[in-house]
Amino acid sequence: MIDMKDYVPVIGLEIHVELSTKSKMFCQCSADFFGKRPNSLVCPVCLGLPGALPVPNKKAVEWTVKIGKALNCKINPESKFDRKHYFYPDLPKGYQISQYDEPIAVGGFLEANKKKFRIHRVHLEEDTGKLTHEGKDSLVDFNRSGVPLVEIVTEPDFTNSEDVVAFLKELHTIIKEYLQVSDANMDQGSMRLEPNISIKKVDDKNLPNYKVEVKNINSFNFVKRAIEFELKRQLELLQKGETPIQETRGFNEKKGITVPQRTKEGAEDYRYFPEPDIPPLSFTQKYVEEVEIPELPAQKTKRYEKNYNLREHDAFILTRDGKMATYFEKVMEEIRDKAKGQKVANLIINKKIDSTASVKELTEKLKDQSEGRKTDLGSLESAIVAVLEGHPKEIKEYQSGKENIIMFFVGQVMREMKGQANPQVVKQELEKKLKK
Ligand SMILES: [Zn+2]
Repeated sequence: MIDMKDYVPVIGLEIHVELSTKSKMFCQCSADFFGKRPNSLVCPVCLGLPGALPVPNKKAVEWTVKIGKALNCKINPESKFDRKHYFYPDLPKGYQISQYDEPIAVGGFLEANKKKFRIHRVHLEEDTGKLTHEGKDSLVDFNRSGVPLVEIVTEPDFTNSEDVVAFLKELHTIIKEYLQVSDANMDQGSMRLEPNISIKKVDDKNLPNYKVEVKNINSFNFVKRAIEFELKRQLELLQKGETPIQETRGFNEKKGITVPQRTKEGAEDYRYFPEPDIPPLSFTQKYVEEVEIPELPAQKTKRYEKNYNLREHDAFILTRDGKMATYFEKVMEEIRDKAKGQKVANLIINKKIDSTASVKELTEKLKDQSEGRKTDLGSLESAIVAVLEGHPKEIKEYQSGKENIIMFFVGQVMREMKGQANPQVVKQELEKKLKK
């Protein structure tokens, strides 16, 4: 933990999410590019050849509205695409189609760690090609060029890496498990994380006059480490009376440090202007209302706590996995006994049963458990012998009158049995043995 004393971290996030639509953002090429032969999924539009006309993918627009709604954003009635100019070999047109001043969604929030973090904007753009460096040569694959990419930008509301990770996990669950608009696979780059980090004096009302952006991080753990490294580095500079420079850095996973990349261009350097080939988008209220979002994990967690009396932690675990949550609800519907909620949750969470098992299988197991039939007396016998052999001192204590120690033995035996026994039966059998 870094001792910040008179300082406080100011952290914001940019998250890029590749949508898993069938086709790309502005052409009919397949967007399912991962692992495909380089440059096999391309056409004049996504190669940026002159005269090729982009046509926006309706599904991608709808899914961006969906993300915006799930993040409690306002959907702008009017929205448009803009050209963002910069030169890089992965960008054949010399510009990227993105959204500048009229993004699809603005002004939302998402809760994590019981705190609200504000969402600045959600916009839609196209992904670029991918460069690979082989010795002195650089190879470019345009299969990724034109894949729909959503950018989610938060306000700089975070003050520590734990909240950042909790927020990112919540967002990941919503996008992957609930909205199902992206596989959000970070190893394959379909969800990319970019924290911007700076530090200010505790009593300073303004935001710092610099920020450091760490680009393209592909795991929650790396985000945490990158933030912690940056805070330490920047604090040392500030304490020496220096101001960290505004820049873009990369995270070196092996060394656990950030390193400078190119310095950040300001928006004026990109020479944004409206995309002349695509008419502006407009959304009627009816359209926005009809884009459906399912019950989200946070709401579900609360409902499970309330309706089934689940412990908060268990309700949280169950709702992290859409399939697991659906399965839990099916079982509860089947057994029609809300009081058994916690028992069912335990069975599912402790992997005694997985969500591919039939509901009948689980209800059987539930019955076995409450009747204690499941205890295999043969293996219980040997588990007890093994535990007792290992604890002669505790046996003496028991026999000299300290009978409470029986619960210690029950715990040990249950562990030996990997939980597959009825604790009541275990206790009885132990008492029989110890009384001898
Ligand atoms: Zn194409």
